[in-house]
Amino acid sequence: MTLTVTNPPALKYPKERSLTMPQKQARKNLRIKAPSKNELDLMSRVDTVLAVMRKSNPNPKCELYYETPFQLLISVVLSAQATDKSVNAAMEPLHRNGLNPKSILDMGEERFLACIRSIGLAPTKAKNVLKLSKIIHLEYHDEIPKTREQLEALPGVGRKTANVILGEIFREPTLAVDTHVFRVSQRLGFHKESSPEKAEKKLLRVVKSTWLPDAHHWFILHGRYTCLARNPKCDTCAVAKFCSWHQ
Ligand code: SF4
Repeated sequence: MTLTVTNPPALKYPKERSLTMPQKQARKNLRIKAPSKNELDLMSRVDTVLAVMRKSNPNPKCELYYETPFQLLISVVLSAQATDKSVNAAMEPLHRNGLNPKSILDMGEERFLACIRSIGLAPTKAKNVLKLSKIIHLEYHDEIPKTREQLEALPGVGRKTANVILGEIFREPTLAVDTHVFRVSQRLGFHKESSPEKAEKKLLRVVKSTWLPDAHHWFILHGRYTCLARNPKCDTCAVAKFCSWHQ
């Protein structure tokens, strides 16, 4: 018997509808560049370093003292260009006393400023804290907002503060790049960027989301206690053999 093979009929795909501008933009936003070979190597080095950091500190904690999400927000706003230690010294007694948006409004700007005088840029920060407390009290019924857009719209709250709140309170996979995170990740060879914003973008490509948001604490604590700005303690650093700066 002879079999006759015939070509199957050509498939016809439905013609794609033309996209509207917002649809085109949404599609563009979704187009994530695949990691290059170098980035894949880097990702595996980042994994190794973070695994070492996790081993020595499995549950890293924020060193700012707070009892409520609102109190953390206030302390993070106050910590810009100041140390956590100086913020805790001023704020811990107030937080223990139940500081909330209404109690700040009742205190008024002058009395609040007197409490935070020892912290850098106190007058500007006091103004922002009063405005921010009013918004949270009136518009959010004393709860802090949950989205980046809402957080960044508050006075004195920038991207870094929003990242800290989203990571620490809502456990979102964020990475707030402060001076310690920037320096440590740069020395380790994880980025060569010139600004915290660019570094954040690069780090979010090479730090897997399973490490977030804890990686933020590991980098900060490493920068605060080992990889110091002036005299890094390379001799006792647990990740020295993976560090480009030290080699
Ligand atoms: S080896 Fe030195 S420079 Fe590198 S991460 Fe450790 S302390 Fe920092």
